[in-house]
Amino acid sequence: ATDKEKASSVAKIKVVVRKRPLNKKELAKNEEDIIETLSNTLTVHETKLKVDLTEYIEKHEFVFDAVLNEEVSNDEVYRETVEPIVPIIFQRTKATCFAYGQTGSGKTYTMKPLPLKASRDILRLMHHTYRNQGFQLFVSFFEIYGGKLFDLLNDRKKLCMREDGRQQVCIVGLQEYRVSDVETIKDLIEKGSATRSTGTTGANEESSRSHAILQLAIKRSADGSESKPPRVVGKLSFIDLAGSERGADTTDNDKQTRMEGAEINKSLLALKECIRALDNDQGHIPFRGSKLTEVLRDSFVGDSRTVMISCISPSSGSCEHTLNTLRYADRVK
Ligand code: ADP
Ligand code: MG
Repeated sequence: ATDKEKASSVAKIKVVVRKRPLNKKELAKNEEDIIETLSNTLTVHETKLKVDLTEYIEKHEFVFDAVLNEEVSNDEVYRETVEPIVPIIFQRTKATCFAYGQTGSGKTYTMKPLPLKASRDILRLMHHTYRNQGFQLFVSFFEIYGGKLFDLLNDRKKLCMREDGRQQVCIVGLQEYRVSDVETIKDLIEKGSATRSTGTTGANEESSRSHAILQLAIKRSADGSESKPPRVVGKLSFIDLAGSERGADTTDNDKQTRMEGAEINKSLLALKECIRALDNDQGHIPFRGSKLTEVLRDSFVGDSRTVMISCISPSSGSCEHTLNTLRYADRVK
């Protein structure tokens, strides 16, 4: 098959669910694993109470493009999700991979290794298939917190977004690093992740209120030489979303928390609408709904690919959040 044919055979939208193992805390509380997986079907066994207070189990069945259980490694997650879209980035495609789920469900665990594995493959393609064709790889890493943008590779410098006439999103002042080896990329990912999780107050829980966006951009000068400024050919974005339960913080006593909750809620809803619009090939995609979708605007137009990884805890104590996550994923599919 030609590269073009290969590109069109990669699904436009792929929705996968990843179930993590029960953790020590859940085991200590005697919580049970209520998630059953079989091929690409997932069943939630919800314990409910009758009026006379006797228990019964209600089953909820979901089907996704792939269901990855607790035995699946990060390498396998990569193979199932991002690996197939790496080659088509060279064919003017923009692709986005999201990790969605409640705090503690495994979003960061799942997302963090993906850009490194993808860059390894991108560099390999640049050095072999596309040898001497003038492709260059760039990395940037920023977060959206309370509707504002901060550079994770430049001391959380505040950034603004602008749109140029050609529907390209431009984030003014964002540091972009040109990279040509895996070690450098690894250091940048570590640096950005550390900046994110400590945040401004040093509280670890802040990361659950922000969306972290790591972008790999492939660029090339018009004539393939390095004499002219390179233009973006393709882009691969990795988004570690804010904890989905945070969108419900809209009744919190603290005003700041309420505002952040409302912003998160708005962005996750807008994201769902944008992905659904993509799938229906509607002309109008509702980007304007939130900062997150505005920033991703140029990744949703033209030939784009979207992978949604929905992360869930297996535990009975998380049943309600898990059902919310699965329903969200179901709507996107
Ligand atoms: P989130 O980013 O969604 O808040 P994390 O990725 O930080 O959640 O995961 C919470 C904890 O669970 C971490 O200690 C992480 O190492 C662990 N964890 C998550 N997913 C897995 C998995 N599939 N296998 C083993 N440990 C996991
Ligand atoms: Mg996280």
